[in-house]
Amino acid sequence: MKIKFGFEGASWNQSKKDWTEAKFKLICAVLKDAAASPKKYEYYLFRWFGARDHPAVGAMLGSLSKYVNEKCSRMTFVSANEKYYGAVFGNIVSTRPEANELGGVHKQLPHGFFETKDDYRKKDGYLKVGSGMRVYLGKTYFKAKKYERVNTLFHELTHRVVMTVDAVVAGKKMYGKKNCMTLSDANTLLAIENADNWGYFMADAIYKMPKGS
Ligand SMILES: [Zn+2]
Repeated sequence: MKIKFGFEGASWNQSKKDWTEAKFKLICAVLKDAAASPKKYEYYLFRWFGARDHPAVGAMLGSLSKYVNEKCSRMTFVSANEKYYGAVFGNIVSTRPEANELGGVHKQLPHGFFETKDDYRKKDGYLKVGSGMRVYLGKTYFKAKKYERVNTLFHELTHRVVMTVDAVVAGKKMYGKKNCMTLSDANTLLAIENADNWGYFMADAIYKMPKGS
């Protein structure tokens, strides 16, 4: 399936459209490669999920790749006059939990919850996501460094396709490199649920982000 790209809103010019489309296509290619040969991405998987070959990550990479490379036919990026990096709307399943239901880093995931999502991912849950998607990009996206922009594009995609959340630990949303690295070291299961860890995984695979930047 070839994706048709659309752009709405006031912040776009041709070069910004071209950049975003090219990077999204690169994300599609990296997903295809990572789903087929996860071993090549071990370094990044370990860095952002604290595990080189976690089965849940493998299933999610597979779903993400199948969605963008086989199911998705229309991707519309909407520039929004908001302070955030990005947003997606619309639940893909009615039981989608809020981030803070995950609890703290040391708290066990509620019984059944992770299992349910795991099942969703293994059983091709991506097929429930519509073939068209709208991703809203805020003012922060347009001012951000390139790897933060790639993070945003992928972060939002994982919310919709594999039901990631913006995890909250001790009242703090797990956004940003430092929080995501801490999460990866402390709690693999929660890192796997956290959209920003996925965002950095992809940004790192594409840009080999410098340490400490
Ligand atoms: Zn998010």
